[in-house]
Amino acid sequence: MTVFSELGDGYEEIVFFHDRPSNLRAIVAIHSTSLGPALGGTRFYPFASEEEALRDVLRLARGMTYKAAAAGLDLGGGKAVIIGDPRREKSEELLRAYGRYIESLGGRYITAEDVGTSRDDMDILRRETRWVTGVSKRLGGSGDPSPVTAYGVFQGLRACVEEALKTSSLEDVRVVVQGAGKVGYHLVKHLTDAGAVVSVADVDVDAVARVVNDFAVDTVEPEKVHAASCDVLAPCALGAVIRDDTIPELKCKIVAGAANNQLERPEHGDALDELGILYAPDFVINAGGLINVADELMGYDRPRATKKVEAIYRTLREVFRRSRTEGVTPASAAAGLAEERIRQVSRVQLLWVPGQSRTDHVRT
Ligand code: NAD
Repeated sequence: MTVFSELGDGYEEIVFFHDRPSNLRAIVAIHSTSLGPALGGTRFYPFASEEEALRDVLRLARGMTYKAAAAGLDLGGGKAVIIGDPRREKSEELLRAYGRYIESLGGRYITAEDVGTSRDDMDILRRETRWVTGVSKRLGGSGDPSPVTAYGVFQGLRACVEEALKTSSLEDVRVVVQGAGKVGYHLVKHLTDAGAVVSVADVDVDAVARVVNDFAVDTVEPEKVHAASCDVLAPCALGAVIRDDTIPELKCKIVAGAANNQLERPEHGDALDELGILYAPDFVINAGGLINVADELMGYDRPRATKKVEAIYRTLREVFRRSRTEGVTPASAAAGLAEERIRQVSRVQLLWVPGQSRTDHVRT
């Protein structure tokens, strides 16, 4: 692949780190720092090739720019990958080497946990760099983001129900939650508290038993969960739930959940639109986790982070308003909203301010 043509697609910087003794092979992609330092997790994964790793990190970094911008954060978008099998190749030596390289970027990129990395790994990175979030509470971290993410999804779901079902109450609204894991569990709690009629599907029988026991909800077979008749399908398990073979079987009015990359391909957003199914863009509705770790940069305060997550409701209302008035899908409207905010904030920051100016260097 030709790296500079990919960079020409709007990326600022790609950094390759290599520490031979620990076999660290990492790539950091900074898509945009227009709104602030680029924040995004580190994925530790046995990529089949360096090219696959590079493609993945570029795609993910770009997604983070949109997620942070739509969430109203003063953060840009970036992501990192470490090539290798975390179960066999992760070591203190490798993580500390990686931490030192992150520090060398001077805060242009701030990392967090992702697939293949954990909070304990972030604690190790913290010993070498300030530019890491998602560390333990004893180190000033925010702990498990899942309850905050679930609260954000719940707020987003309220906006969806208002838009599609024309009611501000969740009473008797039928919601099917796919995945009763860390986020799904807390989402079910919010929904049942609000009077929704909830069913869950999970391939893990223990996860199902727990949620049934705690909230007395119904269950659905995981294989056919997308085809369940309901008002809201809430994907909270895997990506690519909305794809060529599932779309014709959907019997919901709304798709709104926590999972990343719910649409297998962008055009599946158009297909939902044509069927009259309202889609809450995943990068907007699941931003609670990012909003939560971003709060660590100011000295973590959970009530403040939770409060900020409530903005997801207003953002989605605005996304749907634009979608209606501009005749575009919610996914396009959300991307437009993020791009507009980046343009506006970048322009304002061109104003000359003493001590911060881009022209300071020409003054004598
Ligand atoms: P999790 O691993 O705790 O839960 C996922 C659950 O889905 C598990 O219980 C698993 O058994 C179940 N599952 C897997 N395959 C399934 C299938 N085919 N059908 C039904 N259930 C299935 O993960 P989580 O932290 O709850 O995250 C859920 C989703 O939300 C993921 O896509 C994640 O990327 C996304 N997300 C999570 C956060 C967060 O704060 N945790 C933030 C943003 C996005």
